[in-house]
Amino acid sequence: MLPILLALAAFHVPVGCSMTVPPAPFQGATGVYLAAPLPNGLMPQTGTIQLRPGICLYLDQSRGQTWADLESTTEALYVLAHELAHSYGIRNEDGATCIGARLVGFVARKIGATNERMIGAAYRLATARYSQPCQGWDSHGDPWTSTAVNDSSFEG
Ligand SMILES: [Zn+2]
Repeated sequence: MLPILLALAAFHVPVGCSMTVPPAPFQGATGVYLAAPLPNGLMPQTGTIQLRPGICLYLDQSRGQTWADLESTTEALYVLAHELAHSYGIRNEDGATCIGARLVGFVARKIGATNERMIGAAYRLATARYSQPCQGWDSHGDPWTSTAVNDSSFEG
């Protein structure tokens, strides 16, 4: 099995695992998408994702057949998926949260997870947990008014 850092190279933006103190205003975040918004308000696809080492540890564990901690592993997959949603152009937090939850299965398979039963459980857990931001985003009408790229409150 590839080391997790090599597995993370499967994405269209660089993903690092060495974030210890995020830059302002991201303190407390477990992942960030570092990029300057475009003049049209969208996020460019040329930024960099940085994750806390604990997030990468759980991402690595998701590639094994046994997931010791479904809750934490799901959250780690979601944190990466949320940042990927930003990297696809979504600047709004509710939008990134909503789309991120729906990308949990995609992210898991992309980094080499193969336990479909656990991937399914993670997807259901994430989409249930983050269904509220989807409603807010869908009804907002203007998804591009968020002023900051933020992240979930998960402390990995
Ligand atoms: Zn965010």
